Formats: sequence, structure tokens, C-alpha cells
Amino acid sequence: MSVAVNHSPWPATKLQPAYKWLLAIVVVVVLALGWRLPALGFVVPVAMATGMGGGFFRGRWVCGNLCPRGSLLDTWLGFLPRRPLPEWMSNSAVRWGILLVLIGLMIAQLTVDPGNWRHWGIVFWRMCLITTTAALALAVTYAPRGWCSICPVGTVASQVGGDKQPLQIASSCRACGLCEQACPMQFAIVDHRHAGKLPHRDCLKCSICVKACPSQVLSWPVGS
Ligand code: SF4
Ligand code: SF4
Repeated sequence: MSVAVNHSPWPATKLQPAYKWLLAIVVVVVLALGWRLPALGFVVPVAMATGMGGGFFRGRWVCGNLCPRGSLLDTWLGFLPRRPLPEWMSNSAVRWGILLVLIGLMIAQLTVDPGNWRHWGIVFWRMCLITTTAALALAVTYAPRGWCSICPVGTVASQVGGDKQPLQIASSCRACGLCEQACPMQFAIVDHRHAGKLPHRDCLKCSICVKACPSQVLSWPVGS
């Protein structure tokens, strides 16, 4: 039986851990001060490397738990309604195209003044400004985590390790749909209860659904 999902915005927001509010502040500080203090721009490559590198170990876990922008979208904008995302956002050609364009733009700008670290900081700050603006537009138009369906860091992380340690769904699931209401990626979790695990490589492994399940039938593989 499939459950009609109520896209109530509140459950996911309430289930976020407190430290995510602090991570969200990092984005605001970088955006507000990075144009005057270029060193702040280097937060961007550190966050990118952490998200992509972490993908080899547990897919998009970093996206769901440590990404500053993801934390901002979850906590500060989590009250926004969630609407179904357009299909093009899950098209892999589109996602890799966005990655190539953004990384290409960044490298092209860095090579303008390759020996100047302040220039590099400004380039990273500018990239943060562009992508965060896009993320805010997608949050308002579709869903708070809409950007996370096309984010280049997430594209890499999902490809290199998105199949590792998938969410486990016990057969005693009552198909109440509360997990789906809370999932920031709007996954149809109930549809996979007979298979026993969620197959989506873009699962953020944020555990929001695990906390939302009143029957406690969602879990992570032992050792993850
Ligand atoms: S919240 Fe728990 S019991 Fe309800 S549908 Fe989701 S996994 Fe099943
Ligand atoms: S399925 Fe669960 S762990 Fe995965 S993104 Fe949705 S809420 Fe987070």
C-alpha cells in the first residue's frame, strides 16, 4: 500500500540536531564578510573536499550532517513547504553538466591570478554566493533541500559511495508515512519496505526519518 505524503514542513525542522544551527551561521559569516576577508573563502574548498572525500566512506552522510549550507537549508528554511522536484533535477547528465560548468568556471577564475591567495579567496567566496543564491531560489520554489539534488558535491558523493550502508527498513513497518513527511529529500521510503532497504544513492543519511518513525523500524547497518 502506498501512502499519500503530506508535505508538512515542520517535522524535519524540529528533528534537526542543535549543532546544525551553528553550521548554518558559518555560511552567513562567509557570505557577509568573505568579500572583505578573503581567507574566509577557503571554507568553501574545505567543505567541498570534506563532502566529496566523505562520499567514499558513506555516500552523502557529510551532506546530511556536516554541510554548512545543507544545515542552513534544514534549520533556517526548513519551515518552507516541500513540493515535488522536477524530473530534470535527477537527470545525471544535467547534474554532471552543472558540476563541470561550476568547477570549470572556478578553475578559469583561479588561473587569472594563480599566485595570489587573496584572489583565490574571493573566487571561492563568489562561488559560494552564486551557489547559495541558487540554493535559496530552489528552496523557495520547490523544497528547502532542492539544491541538494543538483549540488556538485552531492553528485560526486552519491556516485562514489551512495550505495554504501543504506537505510534499513524492517518488515514491521506500518506504512504510516511519517518518515516520508520528515525526509528532506522527499523519498518514498514506504515503497521500499518489502525490499528492506532504501536504494536511493542520494539519501543524506541524516537519520531524520529514523527519529520520526514511531515504530522504530528504521535503522542503519551494524557498524555504520
Ligand atoms: S514512520 Fe516507520 S512505521 Fe511509519 S511508514 Fe515510516 S518506517 Fe514505516
Ligand atoms: S531517507 Fe532518511 S536518512 Fe535518507 S535523506 Fe531521507 S530522512 Fe535522511
